[in-house]
Amino acid sequence: MAEWTVSSISALYHRELLGLLFEAARVHQQHFKPGEIQVNHLVSVKTGGCPEDCSYCPQAARYNTGIKKHGLMSREEVRTRAEEAKEMGASRVCLGAAWREVKDNDQFDRVIDMVKDIKSLGMETCCTLGLLTQAQADRLKEAGLHAYNHNLDTSPEHYGKIISTRQFEDRIRTLTHVKNADLQVCCGGILGLGETEEDRIQFLFALTQLEGPPESIPINTLYAVPGTPLENQAPISIWELVRMIATTRIIFPTAMIRMSAGREKRSLEDQTLCFLAGANSLFIGEKLLTIANPLPEADHHMFTHLGLTPKAPFSGSRHADAPH
Ligand code: SF4
Repeated sequence: MAEWTVSSISALYHRELLGLLFEAARVHQQHFKPGEIQVNHLVSVKTGGCPEDCSYCPQAARYNTGIKKHGLMSREEVRTRAEEAKEMGASRVCLGAAWREVKDNDQFDRVIDMVKDIKSLGMETCCTLGLLTQAQADRLKEAGLHAYNHNLDTSPEHYGKIISTRQFEDRIRTLTHVKNADLQVCCGGILGLGETEEDRIQFLFALTQLEGPPESIPINTLYAVPGTPLENQAPISIWELVRMIATTRIIFPTAMIRMSAGREKRSLEDQTLCFLAGANSLFIGEKLLTIANPLPEADHHMFTHLGLTPKAPFSGSRHADAPH
């Protein structure tokens, strides 16, 4: 991976848009089959009641957002959801729990069983469960987990304005445990948290400073939920999103770049621009944790209209196939 500095990322980020887009598309085609898209399905295995204070999140117990909370789902329910996702063409199931951190208890044992079940279906599994110790990361790896998601969200400088109940360094520590356990790292951010362009550049720089580049990078845009501190935040434009995706693609040529939260608000044309800029991964299913995601019929139409094909599980870029 090239040695990136804050100033070289800044120069790239500020390039004229069309030139940036052409370059990102070139890099993308060099490393991936054009039109091949990773299809993921996210299951919120435990929803709401989280003790953290992430300002964007409707699942934080302290905000009154009216979401439907539930405790940890049963192993059987999750297996059924995974089977349905496979039917719909997903190659990866992501299990999300609104926990601050994983605790060594019977609930974690159940998540371990869920991971084993999904692996036995021939699918990749990713978990996003909060902070992890090294021993917990190792245990997930042994169970057959493929990847662990833990987002940096934004720049180290802006982080404290968005979350106060944990530090940026806590996130880095968990990501180090994930990497040490030889799990794939899924780590991205959110646009629209009131950050500056400088924050976006610093966020990308922070990603380059992780021990090994992330294999997946979700690029979310804020879904401003009433009741959260960011409920009145202005939406970000498609041009800001495209610029961010294109810059990310050039810096991380072999990563899967995932359009995540906020896709539901984008038109087919917007999403096409994102694919041209190097996005090659998305979530299917009507819900993304607690927020809306495009309807299955709309995604089906998009796949057919654009000639997109779902990526097979356990395959990476042309030059970085890394079965785990
Ligand atoms: S983003 Fe995760 S850690 Fe933060 S409040 Fe929501 S569920 Fe909790």
